[in-house]
Amino acid sequence: QGGAPRVEVKGRDEIAHLAAAFNAMAERREQLEHLRKAMVSDVAHELRTPLSTIRGWLEATEDGVVAPDRELISSLLEEALLLQHIIDDLQDLAMAEAGELRLRREPVEVADLLAQVATAHRAGAEQAGVTLRTRADGGLRAFADPVRLRQAAGNLVSNAVRHTPHGGAVTLHARRDGDHLLIDVADTGTGIAPADLPLVFERFWRVEKSRNRRTGGSGLGLPIARKLVEAHGGTLSATSTPGRGSIFTIRLPAGVCGEEQG
Ligand code: ADP
Repeated sequence: QGGAPRVEVKGRDEIAHLAAAFNAMAERREQLEHLRKAMVSDVAHELRTPLSTIRGWLEATEDGVVAPDRELISSLLEEALLLQHIIDDLQDLAMAEAGELRLRREPVEVADLLAQVATAHRAGAEQAGVTLRTRADGGLRAFADPVRLRQAAGNLVSNAVRHTPHGGAVTLHARRDGDHLLIDVADTGTGIAPADLPLVFERFWRVEKSRNRRTGGSGLGLPIARKLVEAHGGTLSATSTPGRGSIFTIRLPAGVCGEEQG
């Protein structure tokens, strides 16, 4: 087994209580160790996404496909800042796993947020021959952590692009639904079988198990996205039609959105 030794508990005397306390501590220690190992994998995955965006932009520049203009530089800077933020926030991510993530909330223009996510994934989408569009209802604001929200939506967009064949489209759509703010990431891709749909949010779960690292992630993008949205008090859900596409929906509660107030 390899875990800490356990003391057999018999009876209700003081020794038995002591043994029970010892066992509980040993179990907690093992849980924490497991959590720590899982965190290292999560972080590696999260670092890979912005790094590949930076690489994509640089390669496109080198090939002469993209001009090294101000927009490119600010995209690269955005991604570098995201990398920095993730590294700085290792501690916070560990806390998210333990259900104790602290968000840096501020008023966020949702249309701007969608535009930033789209810009970050534009080069990747172009390379894949996928059209990337954004649409946002007017005046939508959220009181949210913009980096976390961008990270969550970014994970969905990168999945959508990866699972959409050449000529397809990925659309980011932000709208109001009563008291809720909804962000849909819709694709015209491969879709997900109904039986697989609940499983995609499980750690390390992937449809094509044999896929290598270059063509796909490590199966952590959706669990992380879900955790980040849940930290905002929201939910992340999905609907899908095999062969037609998928829609992943971030739903944030009334407390984090409004028309005009901060
Ligand atoms: P990965 O790093 O493998 O993308 P995720 O947690 O982001 O990990 O996704 C888990 C799995 O869910 C993916 O491997 C893929 O099989 C499936 N999946 C996620 N998003 C989509 C999508 N938009 N279309 C089709 N399948 C998807």
